[in-house]
Amino acid sequence: MSEIATLPDGPLVGIDLGTTNSVVAAVDRAGIATAIPDEDGERILPSVVHFPRGGEPMVGAQAKAMAAVDAGRTAAAFKRGMGERTFLAGGAAFVVDGREVRPEELSAMVLTRLRLTAEAHFGRPLGGAVITVPAYFGDPERRATITAGELAGLKVLRVINEPTAAAIVNGLDDPSSSGRILVFDLGGGTFDVTVMRVGDDRSLVVEATGGDHRLGGVDFDRLIVDRMAQVAAAETGVDLRTELAALADATAKAEEMKKELSRTTTSTRPLTVGGRSLSFTLTRADFEALLDEAGYLQEIEDHIVAVLEDAGLEPAALDHVLFVGGSSRIPAMAERVRACTGREPRFSRNPDEDVARGAAMVAAKTAHEAAPPGAALAILDASSQLALMPAPRDVASRGLGSTVVDEATGATVNQIIIPAGTPVPCREEVVNRALEDGQTHLNLDLTEGDSTDVDFVRILGEHLGSFGRPVKKGHPIRVSIEYTADQLIICQAYDGETGAFIAEVKVTGGGMSDSEKESALEQLARYRL
Ligand code: AMP
Repeated sequence: MSEIATLPDGPLVGIDLGTTNSVVAAVDRAGIATAIPDEDGERILPSVVHFPRGGEPMVGAQAKAMAAVDAGRTAAAFKRGMGERTFLAGGAAFVVDGREVRPEELSAMVLTRLRLTAEAHFGRPLGGAVITVPAYFGDPERRATITAGELAGLKVLRVINEPTAAAIVNGLDDPSSSGRILVFDLGGGTFDVTVMRVGDDRSLVVEATGGDHRLGGVDFDRLIVDRMAQVAAAETGVDLRTELAALADATAKAEEMKKELSRTTTSTRPLTVGGRSLSFTLTRADFEALLDEAGYLQEIEDHIVAVLEDAGLEPAALDHVLFVGGSSRIPAMAERVRACTGREPRFSRNPDEDVARGAAMVAAKTAHEAAPPGAALAILDASSQLALMPAPRDVASRGLGSTVVDEATGATVNQIIIPAGTPVPCREEVVNRALEDGQTHLNLDLTEGDSTDVDFVRILGEHLGSFGRPVKKGHPIRVSIEYTADQLIICQAYDGETGAFIAEVKVTGGGMSDSEKESALEQLARYRL
């Protein structure tokens, strides 16, 4: 790597904080991004944390290996619970030695390892990082990701959507990829479908996005484990899912078999259940039947159809389909996508590292554009493709609004103020009216969702604000929502006559409180990661 893109405080990096694996990458001044290897030469860090009894926590491959031995003290797939308290099957929190460890804190441990890897590689502290999130993440999950970055001692420049990062890398790697592309990103725990337009000048505009943040490789592993359990129970009479060690062993083997079946048509592993050994065989056709029976292939197709509909496109309007994410290697995925789009998928050259590389490029691009002209040269060469390309533009992945009382019916409805698909950053304002004479307060709430029915949207936060005096029925209230480039939300209400501030909604969404962050920081400082 030639001279790398750096701020005065240190190098810029991009981080793919994945459900199953995480990667850190940096970019040189020519705009070429590379994943950074750790001291063992590994570029991929499993997003797994293990807490040994009485010892220091482990992160990565070592922790993943411990899942088979001590599953109760090992956390994996915690990205699925980002911004919530729970992520374990059955909706439980992860508790170790009587202390609840939140997904943000577990993610911070993974991010700390990546930060240390990059700092060891460059021999100095980092200047800033861009972290990727699934396009489907709402505001609370994005904020939680930023919190995890801060807990890990990173200066988070922004978060960007994973498919956008992947498209930037592939667009710059392969100049023939301009046109309208559908990015099919099926990872370990999340599925993202994004339609974007890539211009000849490498400009990138997201047109529609969708998917399911609880669908991915770990679900396919579980199907195989369930089949193993069926077969083993018939032979031994014991349900392997009730034996912690047998379950962890079966889960590890299920993932190996699934990957093998992307290359071969049959896979076999020994299982030990109830003290007995047996041989378990699965064919690719069996695996595909499991995917089909569970409805996953249909769900995947439905998401693709929905995103094309949102973008107002027929499949024939697509120029390319780009496959990213480890689970896109499953041959049944390509078959299904071929059938429903009529396009032959292209595989990203390096599906495991591209998202982090794209994030590194966005880190350099963001810092380059924010820097004064002289300083910008320390970030990107002015003639590099990355410096010359227009900044990528995303769209709001979900609608944002506020609940209001419909005067005609008296019913509370959701008023969508920023519809899904609006290019970000953006700011929209509506004028609402006071409901009754003598009203002194306004309860402003912020909703996320695309329905006018309040039962189908998520309330991200609310705030009771005061007009400072009684107002008349029909008094104007300006309600604005701003969606920043990071897709973070600012929702405010002002008096429509005086311009005085009334209320601002702070997005709470179950994220960590300040005192929880402090306690997590203290705890993290005690670990040697
Ligand atoms: P990612 O989140 O993009 O790193 O994807 C990780 C997921 O991809 C995990 O669930 C892996 O088991 C899965 N995966 C990786 N390689 C393959 C493969 N060759 N075939 C099927 N799944 C794979």
